[in-house]
Amino acid sequence: MEVDQLIKWRRELHSFPELGWTEFVTTSILVRELKLMGYEPLLGESIINTKFVRGRKKDDVEKAIKMAIDKGVDKELLDKMNGFTGCVAIYDSGKPGPTVSLRFDIDCVGVQETDNENHLPLINGFKSKNQNQMHACGHDGHMTIGLGIAKWLKQQQENSLCGRVKLLFQPAEEGVRGAQAMAESGIVDDCSYFLASHIGFIAKSGEVVVNPSNFLCTTKYDFRFKGLSSHPGKDPHVGINALAGCCTAATQLLAIPRHGKGMSRINVGVIRAGEARNVIPAYGELQVEVRGETEEINTFMCQQAERLVKGVALGYGLDLEIEIMGEAVDLTNDKEMVQLLSDVSKSNNQTVIEQRSFGGSEDATILGRRVQKINNGKAIYFVLGSDLKGTHHQSDFDFDESILPIGVKIYTDCLLKLISKK
Ligand SMILES: [Zn+2]
Repeated sequence: MEVDQLIKWRRELHSFPELGWTEFVTTSILVRELKLMGYEPLLGESIINTKFVRGRKKDDVEKAIKMAIDKGVDKELLDKMNGFTGCVAIYDSGKPGPTVSLRFDIDCVGVQETDNENHLPLINGFKSKNQNQMHACGHDGHMTIGLGIAKWLKQQQENSLCGRVKLLFQPAEEGVRGAQAMAESGIVDDCSYFLASHIGFIAKSGEVVVNPSNFLCTTKYDFRFKGLSSHPGKDPHVGINALAGCCTAATQLLAIPRHGKGMSRINVGVIRAGEARNVIPAYGELQVEVRGETEEINTFMCQQAERLVKGVALGYGLDLEIEIMGEAVDLTNDKEMVQLLSDVSKSNNQTVIEQRSFGGSEDATILGRRVQKINNGKAIYFVLGSDLKGTHHQSDFDFDESILPIGVKIYTDCLLKLISKK
């Protein structure tokens, strides 16, 4: 794979970062490139089950569509997307064989990119053009690797491959919001293999972590309490104080007992209520997340949290709305996939790290688990090392572009082992 081409893609994608569910310009760049290669990417509701869309704000989406139109994104393409970002390109060899799915996340982080004069994207003129939005996690690199694989597939000799490859460009990984909707569209239900990865994070350039451990299952909630406003002097008995409900719920949530069988977590990250000193607050909301080392532990935390806020609502006479804003599960990499990744990484002169704690959450796990469950398929999530400037989600983040061709090579070598025509 030509390094120049990869760097060009990466830099263009880096300069138009978009937050989860608003990646219209990003999707249009991907579609443009994939079409040039001869793909007809799937879009919109054919790859997104809208019932399972998490944490998507309509206002933000509408604003982003307007901006995309201003930036010259094709109206017909936007119509096909019908408000939902991301795309899937399918390579079909035309010969019987397994279907392999690969997933690349496409969204950015809500961070203002640094103006520090040593920052490479600034020096080379590809700094984010969007205020408070930045590819500060490396998803621009993930997409680039995806495009590189797409191009490689089209360059293979006819008859050399069998089966199919689905390249999933998934929206809204940040906040683990996008994968469930893609999974529920059924897009991976015919897949025998699933591979996904992250760059950087817990490994340096030249290293591949083939079996990262401790993926935390997580569920992100918005709890919205609705009460009744009234005059606190004249009619305090009429009001139903949503702020009080929020406060009680927040302290009680933080006091949920931890689970004895493994790691469990809870955070109340945002509390928002009240309008004025002399009005009983009619509305209050909490933004909460729970995590668990296993699905069982995460479910325990969910049940406790939901029961508790329901109890608080009942106690105060408040109406309650519960919305799941994001979710991820744990993933156990299949042994044969770990072996495959180890072999391929070694043959590409990478240092293989068997196991290292990931310690975060990733919604690719939902897609991987689905492939494992439905087809008894094999799945892996691995970490492609990269030397980093700054750290993930910070304004001075940058990764080592020289790992891009290595990423493409590792994936395509895996594909050669999985779908080479025998
Ligand atoms: Zn990330």
